[in-house]
Amino acid sequence: MIATVLDGVECARAMEESTREQAGALLARGIRPGLGVLLVGEDPASAVYVRNKTKACDRLGILHETVRLGVDATTEQCREAVLAFNRRGDIHGILVQLPLPKGVDTDAVLLSVDPLKDVDGFHPVNAGLLLQNHARFVPCTPSGIMELLSRHRVELPGLRATVLGRSNIVGKPMALLLLHANATVTLAHSRTRNLPEVTREADLLVVAAGKAGLVRAEHVKKGAVVVDVGMNRIEDASQARDLLDPGRFSEFEKKGSALVGDVHAPSVQEVASALTPVPGGVGPLTIAALMRNTVKAAGQ
Ligand code: NAP
Repeated sequence: MIATVLDGVECARAMEESTREQAGALLARGIRPGLGVLLVGEDPASAVYVRNKTKACDRLGILHETVRLGVDATTEQCREAVLAFNRRGDIHGILVQLPLPKGVDTDAVLLSVDPLKDVDGFHPVNAGLLLQNHARFVPCTPSGIMELLSRHRVELPGLRATVLGRSNIVGKPMALLLLHANATVTLAHSRTRNLPEVTREADLLVVAAGKAGLVRAEHVKKGAVVVDVGMNRIEDASQARDLLDPGRFSEFEKKGSALVGDVHAPSVQEVASALTPVPGGVGPLTIAALMRNTVKAAGQ
């Protein structure tokens, strides 16, 4: 069996199309959705993520403004930048690009975001609303994954779904969304015993562990749908040879690095019925969901 590719780019495009319409309707009422971004430090990956998000804003007619602070910024300076966005009438959504530099209290910064502008859904008020199945802003990565599953008509009620990873950003909200969609949910993590046995029970496996190639064929039930959230940059040639197909490996040799997921795609695609690629899977969906949340924030 060769798994169907669950194309995140195409799904993200469809999501953007409907968001563009909603943004247009707001504009007709004199409201231009606006996103405020806080980018702290020099992390190159964060800079790329922010650039991709602001490019999406440009595509959809969403105003955006990025405040950049140096790597030595204090928690208070980060909070001040967020509070300034909170006060602005033309900024409807606020994005604090994570990770913040060591020494900055991330929880304190996220807590300072106005919950009505919390388009990442990380504020405890929004996390609590999601827990109680009254979600206002759902974290973007799990929200995008739900869209992909719906588009591919994955029937969730009664399905055995396992989420590998329990972060507040991906794993926990993903598990809650699947639970609210009536799947039978298992949440696995680094202390889970007999991991392959646990994950092999799943008809739907969502992997968000941050470990390149962690999930291999032995972890996957035949015919399962596998969603790979992982985004890992690898520079080791033997790891690249193990994880990449020959075409991507020769690209790796030229560039010296490659982006891979948490799933060992060459072996898992032989077992799974469907698999998201990396890149081109969950990444674009996350951005599309952020745009959708920003327009929602502007319309409330
Ligand atoms: P995180 O905060 O580091 O959480 C990782 C989770 O995986 C933790 O719950 C950890 O367990 C678990 N884990 C780690 N190693 C494991 C192992 N060997 N076996 C079983 N469980 C293991 O990461 P995150 O923020 O959720 O992100 C996860 C991945 O998704 C990263 O690669 C990140 O770059 C990527 N990501 C991608 C997007 C996107 O748009 N595509 C968005 C967000 C994140 P413990 O809790 O026990 O430590």
